[in-house]
Amino acid sequence: MSPMKTNNRKGMPMDKIFSYIDSHADDMISDLRRLVRVPSIMGDAAEGAPFGEMPARALSEMLDMCSEAGLHVRNIDGYVGTADLYPAEKTPELGILCHLDVVPEGSGWSVPPFDLTEKDGKLLGRGAIDDKGPAAAVLWAVKALKATGLMPEKNLRLIFGTNEENGSADLAYYRKKEKLPEMLFTPDGSYPIINAEKGMLRVSYGFRANPAIISIRGGNAVNAVPEYAEAVLNIPNADVSAYAERFEGVTISAEYSHGITKITAKGRGAHASTPENGANAVTALISAVAEICGDPALTALSKMFPYGETDGSAAGIKCSDGISGGLTTVLSVIDSMGGIIEAKQDVRFPVEKTSGDILPLLEEKASAAGLILNADMISEPHHVPEDSELIRKLLEVYELVTGEKGHCVAIGGGTYVHETENGVAFGAEFPGEENNMHGADEFISRESLIKNAKIFAAAICSLCGAE
Ligand SMILES: [Zn+2]
Repeated sequence: MSPMKTNNRKGMPMDKIFSYIDSHADDMISDLRRLVRVPSIMGDAAEGAPFGEMPARALSEMLDMCSEAGLHVRNIDGYVGTADLYPAEKTPELGILCHLDVVPEGSGWSVPPFDLTEKDGKLLGRGAIDDKGPAAAVLWAVKALKATGLMPEKNLRLIFGTNEENGSADLAYYRKKEKLPEMLFTPDGSYPIINAEKGMLRVSYGFRANPAIISIRGGNAVNAVPEYAEAVLNIPNADVSAYAERFEGVTISAEYSHGITKITAKGRGAHASTPENGANAVTALISAVAEICGDPALTALSKMFPYGETDGSAAGIKCSDGISGGLTTVLSVIDSMGGIIEAKQDVRFPVEKTSGDILPLLEEKASAAGLILNADMISEPHHVPEDSELIRKLLEVYELVTGEKGHCVAIGGGTYVHETENGVAFGAEFPGEENNMHGADEFISRESLIKNAKIFAAAICSLCGAE
């Protein structure tokens, strides 16, 4: 049993740390404002700024703050920065990973996106929750430990990335150059803790189009349930009345002109990790057009991906496990060019499987149907066992600070630590909390920001053995 655990339960030293954080909330918010004022959207690469000038500027701003706080900082070629509690001779055993890049501001803001505005207990600005607020909270957790003299025994490394929103090439670069600490968490997800992330496969199917199909297209993103699809057929007055309401949630209609029929399908979008929330316009359209044209390849595709099915049964890949639940899949995009039709599929498979269990099954089905399959992207599942010390201690801290029961969560998407060995996502979003992440008026509440800093301080104490 670590000494800190006893102290946590008695509450004395943590009280000192927590009251330091409470009384310095305005300073923490000023630091957050300093970060939000840098519009760190990805841009063109430059010397020392692989993801553009602004993400690199946000990184140096953060490293300046860490250095002012007495941490040992290093800028790794503008990709990633590190701030260690102790000099590097002492191997860091805990890593906390945040990112300083943001998505573009978009439209619809009621306040300036690249400033921090406090209104009704909310701190509004791009990056407030994702992920600059959590980064500021981590820094202030460390400052609180230093100020109260509760110094951890083990070394701690804060890691700041600059490319999370565009493929996490920052972390890949770090992993090539440096070892990640044995224990790692990222406050770039949600509480209580995300320990299981399904594997992901993206596959495309190609085949020659029936001459009656002038064009067919639908879906904009492979990771989303498509809400719209359309086909233009070289068939006069094709009757679609039988399909108008055949597909629950999708409306099919047609327009006619000069011997041509244009069929449109309107459904409901959803993220590919939760396809049951959507109504797939592409699979509905494929089903209708396959019947109207009597096209064998399109019929085969429709048989593999029948409308309304999201568990992969017809494609022969249905499976599940007790940790992360069932496989989900979406046929999300279809397009045609030069007489060739291409359709794209997104698969999220359970953590106890590998891509090698799934891909051959799809290949078999596709070749039997005369479709040419191409694997566009493969990402194996990520899973840290629930009984690991990291998870046990983080959940304990979560319960201590929030008074809520902690538990592990499995998701269909991938977090910042997906490609790491032992990382988990811990915070910064509390269950049921609104924050408009990636949207207009993104915010973190003052209360949540403070609570995050307290959780991080307690987590560092627990995992790094402070006395
Ligand atoms: Zn993020």
